[in-house]
Amino acid sequence: MDRKMWIGGEWVSAETEATFPVTSPFDGTTLATVPKGARGDARRAIDAARHAFDRGPWPKLPPRARGEVFLKAAALLQSRLPAVAELESRNQGKTIKQAADADLPFSIDNLVFYAGAGRTLEARSPGEFTGDGTTIFRREPVGVVASITPWNYPIMMAVWKVAPALVVGNTVVLKPASWTPITSLELGKVFEEAGLPAGALNIVTGPGGEVGDELSRNPKVDLVSLTGDTATGRKIMEAASGSVKRTQLELGGKAPFVVFEDANLAAAVEGAMVGGFVNGGQDCTAATRLILHRNVRERFLRELLARVKTVRMGDPLSRSTDLGPLVHATQQQHVLEFVEKGQSEGAKLVAGGGDAHAQFPKGAFVTPTVFDGVTPDMAIAQKEIFGPVLDVIEFSTFDEAIEIANGVEYGLAGSVWTNDLRTAVKAANALRFGDVWVNDHLPLGSETPHGGVKQSGFGKDLGTDSLNDYTWVKNIYIDLTGQVRKGWHYTTYGDPG
Ligand code: NAD
Repeated sequence: MDRKMWIGGEWVSAETEATFPVTSPFDGTTLATVPKGARGDARRAIDAARHAFDRGPWPKLPPRARGEVFLKAAALLQSRLPAVAELESRNQGKTIKQAADADLPFSIDNLVFYAGAGRTLEARSPGEFTGDGTTIFRREPVGVVASITPWNYPIMMAVWKVAPALVVGNTVVLKPASWTPITSLELGKVFEEAGLPAGALNIVTGPGGEVGDELSRNPKVDLVSLTGDTATGRKIMEAASGSVKRTQLELGGKAPFVVFEDANLAAAVEGAMVGGFVNGGQDCTAATRLILHRNVRERFLRELLARVKTVRMGDPLSRSTDLGPLVHATQQQHVLEFVEKGQSEGAKLVAGGGDAHAQFPKGAFVTPTVFDGVTPDMAIAQKEIFGPVLDVIEFSTFDEAIEIANGVEYGLAGSVWTNDLRTAVKAANALRFGDVWVNDHLPLGSETPHGGVKQSGFGKDLGTDSLNDYTWVKNIYIDLTGQVRKGWHYTTYGDPG
């Protein structure tokens, strides 16, 4: 099916008419043909967003009216949930139960949340701090926002980025990842039917190095927001520095999953199964480093391996599939190279590590993989693999566990497993990660600020904190004296009166 980009309220081809195919990672079939946008298309979209911000109705609407568009969009997406979830599953390779029961409902809840949250903008003010005048602080939209999204949760990441930006009155250019642009275009249709004014949201498909780079560089864009790889974040910061534009970066992760000796091991094993293999491990918060106390490592591993054997790989559209293919054959190759690397580094492969080619000759699968005997310095313990690969690392003392957990360049998410309150609080406080869970791994809600520290980036998705990222505070001073010459003027000119 041929798809178009959305620019200035029109569904259009690329200026060059170039297109690219979007394929299924399960069977290689072409799912859609999508415009291959280039710099010129990015500029058209930026101009449309600029015009919609400077002259259009959207930024001036009362928050309630913007919220109403969001509520309509949420209802429309809800009515299309089965079809959009199926598209997401086919295109990304994620299981239908993940797409239909998690990603889509969460995205819809996000729209509903921001419909209300956009009405809560506040700015503190000190009032009459001089005694002669009063002060108003206004929280204002930053202007034109570029939202650049990854391929792991295509529609959900688009909503996480676009919703808080739009609802406070910004206009947006969204650039989805090239492997998975289809559901972002569906999101555009939903907003169009919900009554979003032309140009308030624009969607440009095309390569990151060109479309994404233009969005980061172009001085008419006020803020660029990325969810993606740390290396991409660095490039965007550099490109954005030319016009000193604001950036908001949600980057990679390498989450620790620390199991203390007194933890409920059965619960921790279940937690590792879902925390580690969620979305085929293609999740920035995935529990990839299982940091286990030496007295429980053996039992934990035995129980984990028994569970790993029961993971059902297969067609992502089947309700009984637990693990679909990875997003693309290139990503499969990337993960399998890490499997080789782990073995060459001396880690012991105790489960998986294969491509399931015999079973699924056309699918980009990687079998659920576990490495034992991993040491913190190994590449598989340091680098983001973004596949179903878990590392088991042993520790002896609390301090050692924290040192290993914090000993990566990332700081996005992590969890601790213990039944001791003091250990839980001490560990949660000591972990330098934006999200820390105790006796669970993954729960996030529309209400919870999500974002990292260190090279996982800065800024927040979700929650009302994200509204701060997409607004700025203006300070307005109003003289109340009506005097021609104020008492303090002599400090610049003349003498005291
Ligand atoms: P990626 O960085 O390769 O791509 C992300 C987006 O950036 C894509 O749309 C891509 O086209 C674009 N891009 C690429 N080069 C660009 C450039 N030079 N200038 C501007 N844009 C450019 O990431 P990915 O492989 O799509 O996604 C996986 C990554 O996303 C992982 O590192 C993962 O940890 C991260 N991620 C982070 C979070 C979070 O909340 N922190 C959430 C999901 C994914």
